[in-house]
Amino acid sequence: MSFWEKIKQTFRNFMAGRNGVDPLSVTLVWGGLIVYVLSAIFSSALLGLLSLVVYGYTIFRIFSRNGSKRADENRRYLAFKSKITTTFRQAQTRHKNRKQYKYFRCPNCKAWLKLPRKAGVVTVTCGRCHNNFTQKA
Ligand SMILES: [Zn+2]
Repeated sequence: MSFWEKIKQTFRNFMAGRNGVDPLSVTLVWGGLIVYVLSAIFSSALLGLLSLVVYGYTIFRIFSRNGSKRADENRRYLAFKSKITTTFRQAQTRHKNRKQYKYFRCPNCKAWLKLPRKAGVVTVTCGRCHNNFTQKA
């Protein structure tokens, strides 16, 4: 076994049963870096301390042996991230198709609905809550 193989094996043994790097850890590393750069730009000790706290928490998460709790945190983070990216993607689609469709919200449940432009005044039934209302396209 070569020197590097021994080091790899030692590290593998050390990391066995630990959380390791997950998407939340990667985001925390980037977030900590951004906060650190901001602390340097504004020479703010408070932001510098915050970046240290973020990095401390990231290191704690990576080496944590409580895998179920870390996986739960990661699941919540991924659900939150998915919600934000979906909102942005839908807004992008609405903006792209704004000339073909009139977009509006259901007055009852606030779901996004669309009508083709030049449809005139029509009675709309919401697909989510089945609320009927008139809408001008
Ligand atoms: Zn509705």
